[in-house]
Amino acid sequence: MPPRQKAEKPAAATKPSKSAAKAPPPPIPDDVYTPQEIIDLLSAYYGAPEWRPHGDAMAELVLTLLSQNTSDTNSGRAFSRLLQRYPDWPAVLAAPLPELEETIRPGGLAPTKAPRMQAMLAEIQHRRGNFDLSFLEEVPIEEARDWLTTLPAVGPKTAACVLLFGLGRPGLPVDTHVHRLAIRLGQVNEKTPPDRAQTYLESVIPPEDHYIFHILLIRHGRHLCSARAPACEHCPLQPRCLVGRTLKSGLN
Ligand code: SF4
Repeated sequence: MPPRQKAEKPAAATKPSKSAAKAPPPPIPDDVYTPQEIIDLLSAYYGAPEWRPHGDAMAELVLTLLSQNTSDTNSGRAFSRLLQRYPDWPAVLAAPLPELEETIRPGGLAPTKAPRMQAMLAEIQHRRGNFDLSFLEEVPIEEARDWLTTLPAVGPKTAACVLLFGLGRPGLPVDTHVHRLAIRLGQVNEKTPPDRAQTYLESVIPPEDHYIFHILLIRHGRHLCSARAPACEHCPLQPRCLVGRTLKSGLN
């Protein structure tokens, strides 16, 4: 388990002035929010997202590979071009590499992603003889995770996306938003890398809450808690956020 950040402690006591002695004590929280409290507060703020897996694990696998190091818009364009050009996954596997690179170029890093995609498809073809991944709905979750993460170019985050969005199974992808917020909210130590943060969060958050926790943190990261300028003054998590409460005490 990654070490958690310690809750802030009040500054060492000094002799209060008469007026300060009459004032109520500053609201210094003694710990951070639990994952359930984060879910409750963000659900009240944004609404509770409904978990509706689309059922196409292969599409999720390829789309997630395309989404690495680029925006959703760019990876979506690359994926649309892929679907328009090739009728099925065997055709993508058999495509000349330069042609495949040109097809997915809007997604960025095409010279890297195209051969990785074909290596991944070749391995699936080798293991299963087809591209039907529906068996992953039935096997134990650890087995499903291991099967995915031993494919070329598939790490823990991609595997979690396939499980969560494609198959409706537990998985908590830790992308840049989830990682940043998990640190700010004291769920993991700031030195915890994303893959370890994912393992930890998956272990402490009930499987049925993985989807809602993931989606709400991403929404919050995009809407209020940006990397450079978090709008803490508008945030429902400000009172016990490690960053938000520091800013508040600075204003006081
Ligand atoms: S208080 Fe600020 S840093 Fe903390 S979660 Fe809210 S916006 Fe992000």
